[in-house]
Amino acid sequence: MAVNLTSNVQNLNKYLKLDQKGSIMAEYVWVDANGETRSKSRTLKEQEWKPEDLPIWNFDGSSTEQAPGDNSDVYLRPCAVFPDPFRGSPNIIVLAECWMSDGTPNKYNFRHECAKVMEAYAEHEPWFGLEQEYTFLNEDGRPYGWPANGFPAPQGPYYCGVGSGKVVLRDVVEAHYKACLYAGVKISGTNAEVMPAQWEFQVGPCEGIEMGDHLWISRFFLARIAEDFGARVTWHPKPIQGDWNGAGLHSNFSTKEMRVEGGMKHIEDAIKKLEPHHEEHIKEYGEGNELRLTGRHETGSIDQFSYGVANRGSSIRIPRECAAKGYGYFEDRRPASNADPYRVTKILMTSIFGKL
Ligand code: ADP
Ligand code: MN
Ligand code: MN
Ligand code: MN
Repeated sequence: MAVNLTSNVQNLNKYLKLDQKGSIMAEYVWVDANGETRSKSRTLKEQEWKPEDLPIWNFDGSSTEQAPGDNSDVYLRPCAVFPDPFRGSPNIIVLAECWMSDGTPNKYNFRHECAKVMEAYAEHEPWFGLEQEYTFLNEDGRPYGWPANGFPAPQGPYYCGVGSGKVVLRDVVEAHYKACLYAGVKISGTNAEVMPAQWEFQVGPCEGIEMGDHLWISRFFLARIAEDFGARVTWHPKPIQGDWNGAGLHSNFSTKEMRVEGGMKHIEDAIKKLEPHHEEHIKEYGEGNELRLTGRHETGSIDQFSYGVANRGSSIRIPRECAAKGYGYFEDRRPASNADPYRVTKILMTSIFGKL
């Protein structure tokens, strides 16, 4: 008998409606050692919860490769709260930073240092907009809807495609969009991508540390929703070798100064400051990115920094509309789909404004 891998949502709905008698479920979410999210639940009293009032919790870090077995407790310090789109309000989703018992951040806690940088340069009001590309896989690890042997027809009809044979799992994409809106995650849009089974959603503009927080929660939502539908999500930047587009995390960036008349000068100055740090940026921009940044398939080459107006084959693109207006933002096209948004937004800030 085949195992049913999807949740039985219809049955579950009967129970989701039950009264919780003054208690709520809080789902604590954290980033693990492999750039995925993990979560666990606990019961709290029903009240308006703020991050600073929420209890610190812990998990067994030896089971997630985040701590050694002889010192395995990793602490979860709440840093952001969202309404829970799965259980419904008043239940909540709690994003938490990982900390060690000696009071140092966990090795995979990139939020702590990022938050310090955002705080230090808050006067520039940095805005980010991240374009999260990703690929759906079936249970065999093959892109969802691809023939078991062989390949789909070449790229062309799939980007922003509509209709059977062009896109798959639009139900997951729609559910994810709604879940983000319900939770107050600043999702700004979504589109089908160039490779079949690949999609994108955008989050932003978000200011400062909020960017990483919202993007990580949106990733958690997608993995969680795909679970309901019996699909898998991969954040790998080049899930299929060959003539198939990779997946990125294009990072759109502006400061207060760039967003007003005369802003182009600030944009150009910033791009000049990024150039000498190219290699440092690549180290922060995700694993396996060398498979994607080949200079083909709408990417710039990994070992060369380049920029241009409306050029999708460069490291940095100034959108045509911004060049025409003379102010706005620029797009860093280098980050891979599996990059940690805290690392990406932090290094953009330190390369432009200086390390702390
Ligand atoms: P593309 O044309 O590269 O596919 P998208 O429309 O997918 O661009 O994404 C653009 C992103 O840029 C969105 O996330 C949007 O919120 C963000 N964005 C728009 N204006 C700004 C700005 N001034 N500063 C930073 N990000 C911005
Ligand atoms: Mn886009
Ligand atoms: Mn895209
Ligand atoms: Mn883009």
